[in-house]
Amino acid sequence: MKTSRKEFIKSSLLAGTALSMNACNMGNSPSLPATESSIKPVVISTWRFGMEANEAAWKVLDSGGSALDAVEAGVKVPEADAKERSVGLGGRPDRDGIVSLDACIMDEMGNIGSVVCLENIKHAISVARAVMEKTPHVMLAGQGAYQFALSKGFQKENLLVEESKKEWEEWLLKSDYKPIANIENHDTIGMIAIDKKGNLSGACTTSGMAFKMRGRVGDSPIIGAGLYVDNEIGAATATGHGEEVIRITGSALVVELMRQGLSPDEACKEAVMRVVKLMERRKKNLKDIQVGFIALNKQGKHGAYCVQNGFNFALKTPERNELIDAPYFLKV
Ligand code: ASP
Repeated sequence: MKTSRKEFIKSSLLAGTALSMNACNMGNSPSLPATESSIKPVVISTWRFGMEANEAAWKVLDSGGSALDAVEAGVKVPEADAKERSVGLGGRPDRDGIVSLDACIMDEMGNIGSVVCLENIKHAISVARAVMEKTPHVMLAGQGAYQFALSKGFQKENLLVEESKKEWEEWLLKSDYKPIANIENHDTIGMIAIDKKGNLSGACTTSGMAFKMRGRVGDSPIIGAGLYVDNEIGAATATGHGEEVIRITGSALVVELMRQGLSPDEACKEAVMRVVKLMERRKKNLKDIQVGFIALNKQGKHGAYCVQNGFNFALKTPERNELIDAPYFLKV
């Protein structure tokens, strides 16, 4: 049957519309802007120490400060606390007895900064921010990061506290590297926030896995793995076995899934399912690992999901201030 010129133009237009609708679904168009009904400000962070960290972040957010300033102020709380044994001062050492820190930060403009294997400076997050704001680079490592920090006025400090030293000496007797699933010998503060203007930023800081090999880098300082922010869509951060998070570019994946229309909860769950799939493919035991994601979308809605029971996160909004157990995959 011959198609008339009029019909041809009509069907081409319809196909064009379908294509551009598909493009929307594929995430090629900006997501919903923050609306009047958006919840803000909101701050969400990993683990129990997130409660205190959120308080510090909230002071900034509540007084109209930026999400960037808020997340930096927030994660500096556990970094400065010698009793918090996986972040900053008091962090657990590597197998050579040296505390080395990983951290990164990302703002609403897509500016990023990161430090890996930083020694003797407790506020790794502020050094990461200085990398972001005062260098032409996005990541500095080891000695270079340390020298840069000193040049910017950061103070040298011994980060190895007596308890960590004792644990390490005991560990040396067997030298058996065995990360435990939850916070027993590793964890991270990952924090993401949306401010009163509706802008998103995030920060992530850790001493990583206790008794890791010297020079080991986890997910936490890697933009896209431990943290990702897209101010049009949302933000996500991770904790747990960094090798598994890097394998799936975890936080970037969560944000991309939100771009495709998933809620923060669904996006975190889908990312965890990718971890599960790769563990199965590699015939690894899921019980041996933990990976947890938290996410916040542009509307201020939060979500979380993890591999197995034990991961919790702290949430603060104008109405809520809670420590919440994340839903998990592995039911034993
Ligand atoms: N993700 C961190 C790392 O692999 C550790 C943790 O969050 O438990 O270094």
